[in-house]
Amino acid sequence: MLVTLRENLDKAEDGNYAVGAFNCPTLESARAVIEAAQELQVPVILSHAEVHNEIIPIEIMGPILVDFAKRASVPVTVHLDHGSNLEIIKRAIDIGFSSVMIDASHMGYEENVKTVKEVVEYAHGHNVSVEAELGMMTSSGIGGEETAGGEAEGQYKPSDYYTDPVIAKDFVYRTEIDALAASFGTVHGIYLSEPDLDFDRLSSIYKNIQRPVVMHGGSGLSTDEYVTAINSGIRKINYYSYAAKAGAHAVKEYINENTNLFYHDFTVVAKEAIKKDVKRAMEIFLNKGETVR
Ligand SMILES: [Zn+2]
Repeated sequence: MLVTLRENLDKAEDGNYAVGAFNCPTLESARAVIEAAQELQVPVILSHAEVHNEIIPIEIMGPILVDFAKRASVPVTVHLDHGSNLEIIKRAIDIGFSSVMIDASHMGYEENVKTVKEVVEYAHGHNVSVEAELGMMTSSGIGGEETAGGEAEGQYKPSDYYTDPVIAKDFVYRTEIDALAASFGTVHGIYLSEPDLDFDRLSSIYKNIQRPVVMHGGSGLSTDEYVTAINSGIRKINYYSYAAKAGAHAVKEYINENTNLFYHDFTVVAKEAIKKDVKRAMEIFLNKGETVR
């Protein structure tokens, strides 16, 4: 069934687990994720990233995700990832998305608050949840960067952009968002070196905002890191790059081992590989096998 992010994460809060949010820029990835969720009977978030409009427009992929959600035997949120403005958010809500992210984190603080408040007013009026970002997640620049641009790179260290727990409290209070994407050491894409996560900062953010915290750049961490993050307040984990890589790797292997090649067979091979990777992630996000329905 289709549920809002708020409903999905409220249950995660009660059960101390995290719900996986998976970008679905192809039919194979969407099928892989929904099949994985139903086979494991876990709640899930199907995401469409605005930047993936170049791969497949939201007007094509969105209705498919909403349809999958409505027919699913588990709670499913259909979410817009890294929406850059109110226009794309309205498009997503018109299609039937139950959750949107407005990413105004590259703006000055007051402008970020103003932009997010405007989105919250519109989205909540349509019974749609809102995620916003404070601090910035940099990108490794390799693999699945799904940000809509504007994220900081270059002469600055990632820690210069970590979320401040005191500002986070003010931000959530003033904007009334449903979930906060916080920066504490994860990066988008593929990790080039071991991630160095600031869990004390994450705990302070969670304590201060009393709302679910979202981890971006959530693929490629160790099981221990996921568990510690969940126990520190992470309730939504954006997981994409490593699943996409698993799909590509499986197709490459298939091409190496077969000579009679047809494109449609690649989609089957990719779907199965993505599903296997996503299932592994979902089991970790449940946090010690909590029973979730
Ligand atoms: Zn992100």
